[in-house]
Amino acid sequence: MKITDIEPIHLRVPVVDAIPDGTLDVLVVRITTDAGITGIGEVTSQSYVCKACFEAPRSAARRHGLTSILLGENPLDPERLWEKMYYETNRYGRRGAAVHAISGADIALWDIKGKAEGKPIYELLGGCHRQTVRAYASVLFGDTPAETGQLAEQFVDLGLTAAKFGWGPFGQDAAVDLEHVQAAREALGGERDLMVDAGHAWDVETAASRAEQLAPWNIAWLEEPLAQDDRKGYAQLCPQSPIPIAAGEGDVTHHDFEDLIDRGVHIVQPDVAFCGGLTVCRRVSNMCQQTGRRAVPHCFSTGINLSASLHWMASIPDGDLVEYCLRPSPLMRKLVKNLPPLQNGRVPVPDGPGLGIELDDEILREFRVG
Ligand code: MG
Repeated sequence: MKITDIEPIHLRVPVVDAIPDGTLDVLVVRITTDAGITGIGEVTSQSYVCKACFEAPRSAARRHGLTSILLGENPLDPERLWEKMYYETNRYGRRGAAVHAISGADIALWDIKGKAEGKPIYELLGGCHRQTVRAYASVLFGDTPAETGQLAEQFVDLGLTAAKFGWGPFGQDAAVDLEHVQAAREALGGERDLMVDAGHAWDVETAASRAEQLAPWNIAWLEEPLAQDDRKGYAQLCPQSPIPIAAGEGDVTHHDFEDLIDRGVHIVQPDVAFCGGLTVCRRVSNMCQQTGRRAVPHCFSTGINLSASLHWMASIPDGDLVEYCLRPSPLMRKLVKNLPPLQNGRVPVPDGPGLGIELDDEILREFRVG
């Protein structure tokens, strides 16, 4: 089998506000083969730049565009092609946009392999540990503690058993932070999981003291309390924190995650459409298994990302948690025709060959850029 065409398809809603919302502007990657099998993937990054990472022509060694690297290749060995893409973009890639773009190609290659073998991707990744995955939803803290409590009530009404609150007013004042967390905990009740995303708000000393203050509220994890590049800070904080520390939504390749694990981070959060794809995710969860850590996907864009994350989580023994995005964007709600739904706090893993999803041509046409 040979790759005959690679299409980076840029989708964007008419108004993209500068808010942390990955559902407004995405790059879909479609890879076609001479066997008539087509694979799809997604990149959640700067779509204009990542599209160029595909379309750039061949250049001097290790600075080629991804399309020129992949055309004519056999798509059925995604691991080999990941290494090839990573190496041949080395001069402008390694940790930046080129790796984000590789994510989309890698997901599409796994989709092709699954379709060619008639197997869902989770079987290719390591087998099926579960048919549904527990969901958590995330939202910004309310402007007031009362508003945070109301948001938590909405999660309870949706049947969710886990919720994450972050950013917004959180992080500036210890007393206010405590009031927000208390409101969320009271609305969620004692049996649901509550996670807190501190949005890079603190230095090590502040993070350590806030973790002590918040611990009695039974927080499942404290996410990104420090700047993403404060690696020494994470190494100091993790062993003393009474709350497990989570990080990694901004990290790429298994090399970055190996470093986070070495620094003591308890829960790592690769985004499959950003970190380098399913090939990287599988390497990360293998490392987690060997070191007693946990991987939970960051997932906040479209149903392609969600489906790839579900396959990954189905394939690992402790993979029973996925982030489920509740944003109203049509790219999240409608791009995937058979979007895996939220049912009683869980999400079914697609069980068709490959990703097991189908894209809506109308949505592709309506939101396509250019
Ligand atoms: Mg986060």
